[in-house]
Amino acid sequence: MSDVWDAPLTDAEQARILPYVTNCDRPVFGLRALPEVVKGALFSRYSRSEQGLRRILLDEFLKGDGAGFTSTLTAPADDAARRRAEAFYERVLIGYGDDSVAELGGAHLACESISNIAAKALESSRIGIAPLEKSTRYVSFAQRIAGRYRYHRDADVMASQHAARYEAACDTLFTTYAQLIEPVSQWVRRRTPRDDATSERAYLSATRARALDLLRGLLPMATLTNVGLYGNGRAFEYLLTKAAASPFAEVRALGSAMHAELDQLIPSFVKRAASQRGVAHAAYLAATRAAGAVAARQIAPVPTATTDTDLVQLVQWDDDAEERVLAAILYPHAGASYTAVLAAVRALDAATRAAVIREYVGPRESRFHKPGRAFEAAYYLFDIVADIGAYRDLQRHRMLTQQQQVYGVSHGYVVPDDLIEAGVAEPYRAALEGAAVAYEAIAADLPMAAQYVVPLAFRVRWSFGLNLREAYHLIELRSGRQGHPGYRQVAQAMYRQIAAVHPTLASGMHFVDLAQYELERLAAEQRIDARLRQRQAD
Ligand SMILES: Cc1cc2nc3c(=O)[nH]c(=O)nc-3n(C[C@H](O)[C@H](O)[C@H](O)COP(=O)(O)OP(=O)(O)OC[C@H]3O[C@@H](n4cnc5c(N)ncnc54)[C@H](O)[C@@H]3O)c2cc1C
Repeated sequence: MSDVWDAPLTDAEQARILPYVTNCDRPVFGLRALPEVVKGALFSRYSRSEQGLRRILLDEFLKGDGAGFTSTLTAPADDAARRRAEAFYERVLIGYGDDSVAELGGAHLACESISNIAAKALESSRIGIAPLEKSTRYVSFAQRIAGRYRYHRDADVMASQHAARYEAACDTLFTTYAQLIEPVSQWVRRRTPRDDATSERAYLSATRARALDLLRGLLPMATLTNVGLYGNGRAFEYLLTKAAASPFAEVRALGSAMHAELDQLIPSFVKRAASQRGVAHAAYLAATRAAGAVAARQIAPVPTATTDTDLVQLVQWDDDAEERVLAAILYPHAGASYTAVLAAVRALDAATRAAVIREYVGPRESRFHKPGRAFEAAYYLFDIVADIGAYRDLQRHRMLTQQQQVYGVSHGYVVPDDLIEAGVAEPYRAALEGAAVAYEAIAADLPMAAQYVVPLAFRVRWSFGLNLREAYHLIELRSGRQGHPGYRQVAQAMYRQIAAVHPTLASGMHFVDLAQYELERLAAEQRIDARLRQRQAD
């Protein structure tokens, strides 16, 4: 959280909005007394809006006399009934320790003006949390509040000798970003002129999205963003515990702020995060992380230079993956034991194996027709080095085991070819190099906080452990035409490497897109146009 966030609401606006939010004046707040569909719609607006959620709610949903949700407001809770329910949850949760009952209620929480470091910490949640974040593709981050660019200023850095260096590096990154948006948009338009089939609206949208995509590498991890979370009580409790154990002061403070708002919405469900049990759990998480770091310092080899040829490496796979998958296909329908089914599978010839797998995958009319759970029997581990921008996007996938190394500058940075062609590589590089110098100086004293200055163009190393079924989902989704070229390349490389070791298992991935495109967004914008035309016609 930061001291630089949205303009405050007027008294009248606050009065109008207060029934629907847990507070009007802090960056973390919960939603209440709104229909579920409105809460979902509001959060989805984060993706494409520069505004905070309260402003969107006011301007887009509550504008004008008579607008509002009075007719759909949930009936005021009966206090006695609520107290009885809370007492019940406390008895079950705290008395009997049955954690799963805390999954039976949920909350919508808005976390605004948090850094990308904090956003990643929230989004590393898996089961039970659904996040939505402001997009670097559809929203420009060049906005200033009270003359200041919107990035996190860590208290330790600002109290150190590095404060001026930190601000200078971040300001240069943001100034360069802001100055290049227009020339790069113009360049994209010159390079890909509008054709008659494309409306002016779709064209301007797609070309600007392309420019913002190209320039996002300049944004440092400190960049402030907005994240909406919908989650159940159990998942929130664990998230609060993890936040309390975070090495980042910002994330610890964010966890406390989230807890204060959740206490207004689902208090019984998150109570234990601050109890003795929760405090001990957070201490355990921090201690085990520290133990891993000590062991790594003693045992792990010194990193070698990154080469461009091994940026996506499949490092572990099952030699018997095909047999595992075949056994898992047959097992639910066989009365025999798993061991007996596996023995039968091992006796099959290659043609029969391939035929059974082909039939199981079936015709697949779209990428949504995913092969069943039998495909979870094969597991892959990838070691990936890619720009942080691509990492940010891929990290949002939850059905994986992901582990990330620190954000730094040692793996170098990526300059998109298009920026070179557009003639703006020089200022782009200069801003990045300035940030790298600042990072090195700050990291010598404050290694954790130094990560805030690292721009998204720099590479990060992380591992991706996933089963074959999730590989189908992730690779087909992330190689799709409208995706960012950074993560499309990762998804395409993952596909090629799985197909190289397990050609039969990968042969059903019909919706992998290996092509390259000029304007990723154009097809999607043209579909929006078609829908707009249809709506006008109706
Ligand atoms: C073109 C594109 C643009 C995007 N833009 C944005 C953006 O602007 N902002 C943003 O925040 N994100 C954005 N995303 C990310 C996207 O919203 C997802 O968070 C991300 O792709 C993870 O995909 P997933 O949820 O399908 O799959 P995973 O998290 O990999 O999960 C796999 C599958 O498990 C199931 N599943 C997982 N979790 C749940 C759950 N909680 N409830 C029910 N089912 C679940 C679903 O079937 C899901 O497909 C974008 C993605 C794409 C491809």
